[in-house]
Amino acid sequence: MNLSKLNVKLRIAVVQLNPQIGCLDETISRAKHLISIIKPHPPDIVVFPEFALSGYSFHSSKHIEPYLYQVTEGPAYELSRHISKQLKCYTIMGYPEKVVSPNDRSINDKCFNSAIVVDSSGEIAFNYRKSFLYHTDENWQCLENPAGFQTFELPFKKKGRDLQTGEMHDVKLKTSIGICMDLSPYKFEAPFHDMEFSSFQVENDSELIVCPMAWLHSSSVTNQDEDSKQKKERLTKALKEQGLPSCGSQGKYQIDIEGADTATEIPACKPLESEQDHRLQMRDTNYEELDQPDVSNVNYWLLRFLPFLACKLRKSWFSERLLVPVIQKFKSGRTSYLGASTDKSWLFEKKEAILVLANRCGVEDGITAFAGSSGIYKFNGKYGDQEESLDLSNKSVSLLGNLSKGYEGVLVRNVDFQVRRPKPQFMK
Ligand code: GLN
Repeated sequence: MNLSKLNVKLRIAVVQLNPQIGCLDETISRAKHLISIIKPHPPDIVVFPEFALSGYSFHSSKHIEPYLYQVTEGPAYELSRHISKQLKCYTIMGYPEKVVSPNDRSINDKCFNSAIVVDSSGEIAFNYRKSFLYHTDENWQCLENPAGFQTFELPFKKKGRDLQTGEMHDVKLKTSIGICMDLSPYKFEAPFHDMEFSSFQVENDSELIVCPMAWLHSSSVTNQDEDSKQKKERLTKALKEQGLPSCGSQGKYQIDIEGADTATEIPACKPLESEQDHRLQMRDTNYEELDQPDVSNVNYWLLRFLPFLACKLRKSWFSERLLVPVIQKFKSGRTSYLGASTDKSWLFEKKEAILVLANRCGVEDGITAFAGSSGIYKFNGKYGDQEESLDLSNKSVSLLGNLSKGYEGVLVRNVDFQVRRPKPQFMK
């Protein structure tokens, strides 16, 4: 097929929040404050975390009940619509969704952990439901997305420049949403290397991947911990030493807006990239240095996107046909493993994609610390024969910017990437 290359330029904003259960109004007002700061430099998309306004750690169906809303109701929809109309952008926001049976009110509502996409006229462009659940979701009988991972087209007016003719075209980006645990192995039971979410993305040619998250920092006490008592003591001590309330820090912002000179209480994070950067090797086990990103999580997230990363070994595995039996064992239409298909050594080669990770920060219940470190990444589909490292030093990915682990804030970046589209009829 005759394809033309379009250069797409978008401005993307990520809002990192620390929502606490029962403090909806305060969270909304801080979100509005951050939006007012980016308003003079409006983005094309604003992304918020998972359960961005409600808080995350619900203990039961009864506990979450007052926070559940149908897709076009409730605070997440209202705020998203307000932002989208005001900034003329898309807003993507995580929220607890209920689906009420239309005919029979006696049937229990179905509940999902969802993210809405609201367009600039305030309409719902998409509603995604989390497919892989974390045990906290199971506390309140959340259901898995029956549709599984999905892609959808997100239209942008006059955002694609034809590299041959210089003309500007409308462009529909192949978009996909993943909510937090969607990035992990299913139920933490599937083999780590199955990489279900990122394999789906390369198999489906996703160009924009957006992840609202409430990802835990490793200092959190979870039901998988054997040393939970010591961990709790360590976290309590860290919060005390840093003068933080047990519900985390709030109201001190880190603001990092490309193209704007904005005064900010917390200085922007230093760029993380080079192989020499010792932070790349760090294991972030204590909840401290809250003004810096959690580099171990950043690297872990990247590793979960291995099918997008250049990897020298992939080519030799492919030529020795080592991956074929694994691909053949997969059920339900999967066609790749570690980024290779049966007939292509690297499905993502020569393509480009943008990844937006919008994580929350703060602490809930005194035991669940979130990792913050929201960021915007670009995969460039190059260096397939060269790279051995599977972390941020891999040249096929750049971290365009990120926020710290502990503070609320906003990050805005201009992204610039190429997509291919069939040549329009009139150009043939
Ligand atoms: N894998 C994630 C974590 O460990 C899951 C959390 C979530 O789905 N919110 O933090």
